[in-house]
Amino acid sequence: MDWLVAMPKVELHAHLNGSIRDSTLLEFARVLGEKGTINFSDVEHVILKSDRSLREVFKLFDLIHILTTDHKTVTRITKEVVEDFAAENVVYLELRTTPKRNDSIGMSKHSYMDAVIEGLRSINTVDVDFAPHKLCEGSSHMNDMSNGTVRKKIYVRLLLSIDRRETTEAAMETVKLALEMRDLGVVGIDLSGNPIVGEWSTFFPALKFAREQGLSITLHCGEVPNKKEIQAMLDFLPGRIGHACFFEEEEMGKLKSSKIPVEICLTSNIRTASIASIDVHHFADLYNAKHPIVLCTDDAGVFSTSLSGEYSLASSAFDLGKKEMFQLARNTTELIFADDEVKQEVREIFESAARKLD
Ligand code: 5GP
Repeated sequence: MDWLVAMPKVELHAHLNGSIRDSTLLEFARVLGEKGTINFSDVEHVILKSDRSLREVFKLFDLIHILTTDHKTVTRITKEVVEDFAAENVVYLELRTTPKRNDSIGMSKHSYMDAVIEGLRSINTVDVDFAPHKLCEGSSHMNDMSNGTVRKKIYVRLLLSIDRRETTEAAMETVKLALEMRDLGVVGIDLSGNPIVGEWSTFFPALKFAREQGLSITLHCGEVPNKKEIQAMLDFLPGRIGHACFFEEEEMGKLKSSKIPVEICLTSNIRTASIASIDVHHFADLYNAKHPIVLCTDDAGVFSTSLSGEYSLASSAFDLGKKEMFQLARNTTELIFADDEVKQEVREIFESAARKLD
């Protein structure tokens, strides 16, 4: 596992509120318990439970959002999540989050995202490049030597998520916010949230508008059996899709011919029982077909995983050695939504790592 931790990696499917450390969630729960807002002992075992159905996962997210939706907390979790990914040598992270409005505490979608940006700015343990170069204050050169040690650097770009509970108007508000925040590292839009809620036709106008305005799109697709929606999503030709669990032969064929890259979240799919067991996971089929895929965590906190853990699982389950795993990680550079300049810099990180591998 050590070499998988040391290897540079790219994370393209990580939900901010799903990636919080258990210790931080418990700390928030304890504070709200003391205030009498929640009953701590009820919440503690929910946070620490590791096996959950997809339905239970969404119930947990409702709880997490009660614990985390205030500006200071959003700033803190953003900082910690990025630090955690950087610590395991994720060199490029596309972090996604659903901008939230909470009138009772004066939170707008915009101020929620300002709190996220504040979190990125507040990181001082690693160098964070989160915005197009001319605007990124905290950025410095790769492998900056300070005190004789190599300082880590992570590129972070943001995806704003539309929650499937939202209306077309609310989805459009998120897209307009993403457009406003392009200079702060927002590169695209994600469609997520409980897959049994909402209709594709509700989100389509906002997603179409986003794409026309130059934002990249990734869709949670095929998390539950829904042939009509899967077909409509594939016809939309998004930049990437996440999961692709409930694809029948016809949709799998369409996916492969369209070459839409797939974000694969092995632990998430197994824990939520979207896929019965690792040996029947569609990773193997897509990998053997040389389809563009990227291993991702989905919700490192909720599913108690890490990106190195996902690589380790793939390596052992599908019998892939060091060279294959490195190549898998390296290929993901081509799937990132950031501009060509960043892409080139990430390619160079892998080139340099490849020289050390030989
Ligand atoms: P947030 O957007 O609040 O930062 O991250 C948590 C949210 O991401 C959840 O409320 C949910 O909308 C979305 N999410 C996290 N994991 C999954 C998943 O596995 N599937 C889907 N469809 N949505 C998810």
